[in-house]
Amino acid sequence: MISIYEALSIIRSNIKRNITEIINITDSLGRIAAEDCHSNIDLPQLDNSAMDGWVFNIDALEKNTIDFEKKEIKAGDPKTETDSSKAYRIYTGGVVPNNLNTVAEKEIVELVENKLIINKKIEKKRNIRKKGEDIKKGDIVLKKGNYIDPYNLNLLISSGVNKIKVFKRPSIAIVSTGNELKEPGVKIKSHEVYDSNSYTVKALVKSMGIENIYLYRCKDTLEKTILTIKKALEYDIVLTIGGVSMGDYDFIRPALKELKCERLFWKLKLKPGRPFGFFKKNEKYIFTLPGNPVSSTVCFELFLRGTIEYIMGKDLCFKELRKGKALFDWKSKDDRIEFVRGILKDSDSGTILELAGKDQQSNMLFELSKANCLIKVESNSIKKGDLLEYIKLYRL
Ligand code: AMP
Ligand code: MG
Repeated sequence: MISIYEALSIIRSNIKRNITEIINITDSLGRIAAEDCHSNIDLPQLDNSAMDGWVFNIDALEKNTIDFEKKEIKAGDPKTETDSSKAYRIYTGGVVPNNLNTVAEKEIVELVENKLIINKKIEKKRNIRKKGEDIKKGDIVLKKGNYIDPYNLNLLISSGVNKIKVFKRPSIAIVSTGNELKEPGVKIKSHEVYDSNSYTVKALVKSMGIENIYLYRCKDTLEKTILTIKKALEYDIVLTIGGVSMGDYDFIRPALKELKCERLFWKLKLKPGRPFGFFKKNEKYIFTLPGNPVSSTVCFELFLRGTIEYIMGKDLCFKELRKGKALFDWKSKDDRIEFVRGILKDSDSGTILELAGKDQQSNMLFELSKANCLIKVESNSIKKGDLLEYIKLYRL
């Protein structure tokens, strides 16, 4: 058995980033940039008005008055010629002409015949958004290795980026094993269980923006397991669920051996999650997850999220664990590192961690459904007030 730290280091030194592709910016949400992206234009491109109001040259004001012309300047109108001794109606986004420099918002002006009167002391350049004040042409708007999320998508589109080089996303096959497993929604007998875990693992994979995911399910026989994994190996990454302990009906390891998959590790000093393993066949990666949803969630968040993000090209994917203050005592009977289901809350004194339930067995699903974090209980005696590391769970 190896430690979780050794396991992480073996994974890191055996995985490669995916190749890249160039796609349309409007299809890039959820992808990871494969190069620094630069703005093609200044943002804004020209000086323009931040308000609906009147634009003029402040030096042409006589006391607080100026003649106005009936011409309007709206957002979308090209830059126009104006008389520097006159004021003009301007709307938000309207381009400020070269010889004018100040916008008085409509709330502070009055019109008397053909004169505009400004009822407030104002300064030059008031209400003007300067060309390039947000972004200058050539500035980096997204660094390589970052996700394209709704907000930087906005900046990329605004900067005139049309095509973007991103990392390809891996395709993922999930293989669940077990004679007892049944498809969700069908009527089950009392000795059967629903295959819920495939859907949790699929949802976690999907949460990283991966779309090409296929679910396989197979019975506990060597032949079926070999056949299923063989098909699953058409995908870039294979995640197996269950059937990987020492039992006579656990066929994942014998099947991987038969298929000549190289074993990099199997079995960790981790609770729950002991049978987690990493295998390779050519450029394909196979990770073996335990069958229990709680155990496989621990393994997923501890190892697979960072691994898949690395393959997808993300920077800083293997994150340091954060710390919070325990609001519970804990006595462990095991010398393995243990992760318990917890609820983290923000308080005036920082993050506090509670147990999501007292019964922390890995088959207990209700606690997992309430939890928002996994708390690492490493030493066998934990006292209220101790600082403990935790991993946040993906929750909507
Ligand atoms: P195993 O790792 O195959 O020994 O399975 C451990 C426990 O997890 C057993 O009680 C299984 O019934 C349960 N289990 C295995 N696979 C799944 C699955 N896909 N969905 C729900 N429970 C599962
Ligand atoms: Mg099983």
